[in-house]
Amino acid sequence: MSVTEQILDLSVKTANLIRDDRRAVHRRPGVGMQVQETASLVADSLERMGLDVTRNVGGAGVVALLRGAADGPFVGLRADMDALEIQEQTDLPYRSEIDGVMHACGHDAHTAMLLGAARILSRLGDRLSGGVKFVFQPAEECAPTGGAPAMIADGVLEDPPVEAMVALHVWPDLPTGKVGVKAGPIMGASDRVNLVIRGRSAHGSSPEKGVDAVVMAAQLITALQTVVSRGVSPLDSAVLTFGTINGGYRYNVLADQVRIDGTLRTLDPQVRDLVVERIKSLSIGVSRGMGGDVEVHYEMGYPVTVNHPGIASVARDSVVDLLGEEGLWEVDRPSLGGEDFSFFASKVPSAFLWLGCRPPGIPPEDFPPLHNPRFNLDEDCLPLGAAVLAKIAWDLLDCRRGGVSR
Ligand SMILES: [Zn+2]
Ligand SMILES: [Zn+2]
Repeated sequence: MSVTEQILDLSVKTANLIRDDRRAVHRRPGVGMQVQETASLVADSLERMGLDVTRNVGGAGVVALLRGAADGPFVGLRADMDALEIQEQTDLPYRSEIDGVMHACGHDAHTAMLLGAARILSRLGDRLSGGVKFVFQPAEECAPTGGAPAMIADGVLEDPPVEAMVALHVWPDLPTGKVGVKAGPIMGASDRVNLVIRGRSAHGSSPEKGVDAVVMAAQLITALQTVVSRGVSPLDSAVLTFGTINGGYRYNVLADQVRIDGTLRTLDPQVRDLVVERIKSLSIGVSRGMGGDVEVHYEMGYPVTVNHPGIASVARDSVVDLLGEEGLWEVDRPSLGGEDFSFFASKVPSAFLWLGCRPPGIPPEDFPPLHNPRFNLDEDCLPLGAAVLAKIAWDLLDCRRGGVSR
């Protein structure tokens, strides 16, 4: 039996365990760092597999190490464990027992599939060179902080150093059996920008005695439209939207302060940096040129999730080996949703994949999307996801020693 066949065989034989783990996690969801119940379930199972487990990494994170029989590099596989503040509206027998908290983003499935991958790889460990680090993180839904940075600060990518990271997200746009792979950007950056424009109040009949913040705001909003239209290449993507504007006291008084609030979405870290810089310099230039001033508050959300071409290419081959060409979905357009796996991906070459989780036969418009109180994934995707993670880890380690046993 080839390694690919063995991985598939083990995923089928352990499918019930993966499903049971998912249901147990689903029943007892936690938000942000409050994932202790899930973290304990994860750490206990990993210990039962005989792995070297560390609890409370970067808060509530869990890390387990599988060392192969021979020396070699380490690769990391990551799952997120946290749920959302949403009241579940399904009638599943294992629906959430915690009021107002639900696994509506599929992180219950991610956790169970990564435990599944650990179970599969543990059985193959005596044939591995190097090893695998299994990373279970809290607080993925907590932008802009996230849960990944604290785990990185706590050394999750070191000792032994992790040379590549892989994660997947259940994806209701795709039917079960398909895995979406893409090199380059796959998830967007979503940032918030807030401008406080300051002038000086005066009577509306004597504008020369003040500095009108409303007129400055009008000029500034128009000028900021050129940041994307004139500053960013038409072949790149960026959206700058100001959704609120507030200021002034009375119809016949010059406003001394106006606040505008907006969001910036980008897919390329360089475009993001350029737009941020232009927003700052243009705001200062326009407001000072008109005799006022401005405070620019910029809150970076999660960075763009950029897939490394080499790791994405190995992942693509792994998916085809496991599921055939019909299992591969070449992702053409990234999502503008944010994802804090991007913090790992900005440190080591990484790949983030989309795992189809919609029952075949149900059209996408009839299937509740992520973050919906009725979201429920097709559990047939669970063994596939575990097998995909295990296979990519195996292939990455294998490629690094020349791909001899592929
Ligand atoms: Zn989510
Ligand atoms: Zn998610």
